[in-house]
Amino acid sequence: MVIKSEVLQKLKNIAGDGNFFTDKETLQHFNYDATERRYMPDVVVTPKSTEEISKIMELCYQENIPITPQGGKTGLSGGCLPVKGGVIISFKNMKNILEIDDKNYTATVEPGVVAADFQKAIRDKGLFFPPDPSSTVESTLGGNVAENAGYTRAVKYGVTKDYILGLEAVLPNGKVIHLGGKNIKDVTGYDLVRLLVGSEGTLAVITKIIVKLLPLPESRRTLIGYFDDMTIGADFVVEIFKSGIIPTAIEFMDRMTMKAVESYLNVELPEAEAMILVEVDGNKFAVDDEAEKILKIYEKTGAKDFRLAIDQKEADKFWIIRRESLPSLKAKGGDQLEADIVVPRYFLPAYVKNIHKLADEYKCQVAAYGHAGDGNLHITIIYHKSSFQDLVNANELFARFYEEAIKLGGSLSGEHGIGITAAPYLKMQLGETEIELLRSIKKAFDPKGLLNPGKIFDFKDEE
Ligand SMILES: Cc1cc2nc3c(=O)[nH]c(=O)nc-3n(C[C@H](O)[C@H](O)[C@H](O)COP(=O)(O)OP(=O)(O)OC[C@H]3O[C@@H](n4cnc5c(N)ncnc54)[C@H](O)[C@@H]3O)c2cc1C
Repeated sequence: MVIKSEVLQKLKNIAGDGNFFTDKETLQHFNYDATERRYMPDVVVTPKSTEEISKIMELCYQENIPITPQGGKTGLSGGCLPVKGGVIISFKNMKNILEIDDKNYTATVEPGVVAADFQKAIRDKGLFFPPDPSSTVESTLGGNVAENAGYTRAVKYGVTKDYILGLEAVLPNGKVIHLGGKNIKDVTGYDLVRLLVGSEGTLAVITKIIVKLLPLPESRRTLIGYFDDMTIGADFVVEIFKSGIIPTAIEFMDRMTMKAVESYLNVELPEAEAMILVEVDGNKFAVDDEAEKILKIYEKTGAKDFRLAIDQKEADKFWIIRRESLPSLKAKGGDQLEADIVVPRYFLPAYVKNIHKLADEYKCQVAAYGHAGDGNLHITIIYHKSSFQDLVNANELFARFYEEAIKLGGSLSGEHGIGITAAPYLKMQLGETEIELLRSIKKAFDPKGLLNPGKIFDFKDEE
């Protein structure tokens, strides 16, 4: 888009020299995320304060310039891509942990704080912030809040929204709002904190976050086991809950993901249809007792090669196998489509069996892994778009995966968001009335449709 030179100058004056970029070489560092799609912004600003963001947004609002907030660019639905050009607000200069309040068990942070840095800072004080997505080394707390990120511990601890107590944010017109605070309970008016969490940067730009902390669990134990029949996994998960245990994590990988991890990490895994990893945490004696019970459940439900990690070093090895699923699949190359589907927990193994059957029908390679404890599955279709038939098959199959999930009462996305990748399928899950309601909320915050346009509702690729 064309931005008038006097407007560019005003933006530069607000952000300051060194925090305002229009040269192509720099812009290229901001034009992609983990979807590997690319869209060029016209301008990138790296403001240092809420006040600067407020002025930038007010100016862009007056001049009808689109704005896209951008965190660590690890998004898997294309949320931080400037699909309509305009200005990217990057939070590279807003990385401060403003306060760790170990009396109220809260912390206040700027949105650009990298998740892993925050985890380290609070762990050093004996505190615990459960939300910790696998992208922890690069993703930011602002991005985690905007996507309502999930993570492996969600089965016991809930997702990011369960830990956000307060937010400061800037509306598209530049007005600053303060929502919630350090209170554990707060029912004054509609719950706008929860509305902004998971709003994918389409309603307001988050500039400060107050999170809830917990005491660090005393102990944790990790188990791993392999199954020859995927559907047994469903009974395995049910048996764990029946025994009265709420595990911290129940993670899953199918055969193709295991094969990808084997070659990526140069390790050998047992021949099996599925791997299920379980973690428990809490009081040391309770955790040891729960781990013994879970070993027995592996045995009872017909798992093979199951074991309890003898120490944290071995547990870390189990986790690496699971955590490297996505990079291992990416390393397989080819073109890839990724979905982040959720189904009611018990249906997950049957759903996985079904998607493999469909993959054979459409002659596509498909791998699946994810959070069995939450019914949340990450599916990768590997294909070659140079072959027209392959491209058609992959896209049809992708839509079938959504269709089959929705038939089971599932959802388009558990944690990666709708962004641009799932936007074309929104109508499969939501009715006209529900979509209209979402649109009217968007309009109330952003009447001109300038904040992160092209996301969630009606993405059209204009490149
Ligand atoms: C290897 C890998 C592992 C992953 N593991 C997980 C996982 O375990 N769980 C999970 O949920 N996701 C996971 N993801 C996806 C991704 O990391 C998350 O969606 C993460 O929350 C994105 O954070 P980010 O800082 O990279 O945000 P970005 O990708 O930069 O942006 C994501 C969205 O947040 C918006 N946004 C960013 N900052 C702000 C702000 N301050 N105000 C308003 N909007 C903002 C953007 O506009 C965009 O819509 C993974 C991705 C990768 C590549």
